[in-house]
Amino acid sequence: MSTASTTTPKLGVQAATKVYQTASGDLLALDRCSLDVRPNEIVSIVGPSGCGKTTLLWSMSGLHRLTAGAILLDGKEITGPRPEIGIVFQEANLLPWRNLDANINFPFEIKGEKPDRAWIAHLLNRVGLDGFGGKFPRELSGGMQQRAAIVRALALKPSVLLMDEPFGALDSFTREEMNRLVEEIWLDTKTTIVFITHSIEEAIFLSDRVVVLTTRPGRVAKVYDVPFPRPRSLEIMATKEVFDLTNKIKMDIVGERVRPIAPERPSAEIVRIRP
Ligand code: ADP
Ligand code: MG
Repeated sequence: MSTASTTTPKLGVQAATKVYQTASGDLLALDRCSLDVRPNEIVSIVGPSGCGKTTLLWSMSGLHRLTAGAILLDGKEITGPRPEIGIVFQEANLLPWRNLDANINFPFEIKGEKPDRAWIAHLLNRVGLDGFGGKFPRELSGGMQQRAAIVRALALKPSVLLMDEPFGALDSFTREEMNRLVEEIWLDTKTTIVFITHSIEEAIFLSDRVVVLTTRPGRVAKVYDVPFPRPRSLEIMATKEVFDLTNKIKMDIVGERVRPIAPERPSAEIVRIRP
């Protein structure tokens, strides 16, 4: 047996099922979704909008309970939020009345713990926010706020970092910069990362593996290995292999939903508005 198959996954998702109770009835968001995240790897989760990605990530963080199934951290089931698991959301969620330093200290205050100042200084330097500790969120660009949110999460030295479309609201140039930053941080810390994105390019740039979910209810449709060496230079990202893999994953997601637009006859509405 190979070593890989005997290693306990850092994070195990076992037949995760989540039903939301809504005003219009039960909504099945995840249906027996299973996957393993190995120690020190970066796994991206992609899938159509509304397929259950955020639901899956929240479950992995222990922020909400599954209806059935289990989440295992280092082989042990989790039933609530854990200090070993950091999370970064699409919005930076910085407290507007606190400056950057005070925002980064906030989780430590809640936990009644002393922050590791040297580590935080290192992180701030790593993400290019040296000297910005006294600034308030409104004084920072979206990209800088998101970098601060990453520092806030990493300040607690999590062994797993969960990221839910963290750069979805940023312009594409800043987004590429942020992707390089995550790669650098990972090369530095080897933190296990689960990264949700709707950008296949971003997923391939960052990940060791890309997990494709089905349309809702979310289940694992496919898992792709991303075998390209790191750091992933522009040259690597421009190769035919990357292009082919990108298209393959795109076809998985879009292909099954795209139907030929060839209605046999115009709908009643179109007929009515015709002159
Ligand atoms: P994704 O992140 O892939 O876009 P989500 O996990 O946010 O998908 O949502 C999956 C499905 O569950 C969607 O149909 C969404 O409307 C529904 N949903 C998400 N959160 C809730 C909630 N708190 N209550 C009810 N329905 C929800
Ligand atoms: Mg989402």
